[in-house]
Amino acid sequence: MPDPGSTDRTRIRRLPELAITEQQKLYDVLDAGLVAHVSVLDGGLPYVVPVAYARSEARVLFHGSSGSRLFTTLADGQPTCLTVTLLDGLVLARSAFESSMNYRSVMVLGSCSVVPDSDKTDALRVITDHLLPGRWDSLRPVTRKELAATLVLSLALDECSVKIRTGGSDEPVEDHNWPVWAGVLPIRESFGEPVPMADLDPDIDVPEHVRKMSR
Ligand SMILES: Cc1cc2nc3c(=O)[nH]c(=O)nc-3n(C[C@H](O)[C@H](O)[C@H](O)COP(=O)(O)OP(=O)(O)OC[C@H]3O[C@@H](n4cnc5c(N)ncnc54)[C@H](O)[C@@H]3O)c2cc1C
Repeated sequence: MPDPGSTDRTRIRRLPELAITEQQKLYDVLDAGLVAHVSVLDGGLPYVVPVAYARSEARVLFHGSSGSRLFTTLADGQPTCLTVTLLDGLVLARSAFESSMNYRSVMVLGSCSVVPDSDKTDALRVITDHLLPGRWDSLRPVTRKELAATLVLSLALDECSVKIRTGGSDEPVEDHNWPVWAGVLPIRESFGEPVPMADLDPDIDVPEHVRKMSR
């Protein structure tokens, strides 16, 4: 697998000091995210579609309806671009121009392949357990009909880039005396208190894999 940012298309030109080339950092960002945005061209127009995903070794897996535009078009091999963005903070400078965001961001270029039926259940397990580790084993087994209605796509991490911004702003010294608070407002993602389904058997407790979850 080529290092992130090592191809002509993925070399970060704008603020190259934010470019990350370590494969492990690529994996860390992908493993920390829950939602990817995937591009698809339809009728010559671009669409960007949010999807749940998971990394499995050197590829990203995502699933959807076998009738959906996104999935049928990408299953045909159309080139795509997938991004994952984790927002870590608002960088509040003394001017709008110097204000920014702290983030971890991944972009993957390539064409998807269809996960064959023989591997589909395993791929669905990987996606399900990425969203909530330990969930798959407690679920009603997937049916043949559900599998038939589901397409799972795999995008190899062959051409990727990683951009990470941390820290404060790079304001010019002449702005330092402007009388407004400046700094970083961190953003943290967290799960709230579990809310049971209205029809849940009251004897079923919140399971450990749900209770212990905190990101
Ligand atoms: C949460 C967030 C908010 C942002 N807000 C803004 C904004 O308001 N205005 C703005 O100009 N920019 C913003 N950026 C940065 C933006 O994503 C681009 O990096 C930037 O605009 C330069 O784009 P480019 O195509 O000109 O970069 P180039 O450096 O020319 O792109 C070359 C290659 O670098 C890689 N690359 C570029 N950007 C990213 C990225 N973010 N993550 C991973 N790989 C990347 C791709 O492989 C791309 O093909 C934001 C980024 C994030 C994550």
